[in-house]
Amino acid sequence: MTSREGFVPAINSSAAAGGFSNHKTYGVKYICASCAATFTLGKSESIRCKECGHRVIYKARTKRMVQFEAR
Ligand SMILES: [Zn+2]
Repeated sequence: MTSREGFVPAINSSAAAGGFSNHKTYGVKYICASCAATFTLGKSESIRCKECGHRVIYKARTKRMVQFEAR
């Protein structure tokens, strides 16, 4: 046997997991630390507020939201 086995076709597993997966994209909800706007971000989106562009945001994955008494 010679070492000629470098001929193995590289199976692109990334083609299966690549861009077009039919998975349910559940957006994660975030709360801006600056303007307190709530928004959802996809996994491909950058982490920052969509309203003011602030980069400090809280992940709000709990159902119970903290309500501020702003009355
Ligand atoms: Zn904001």
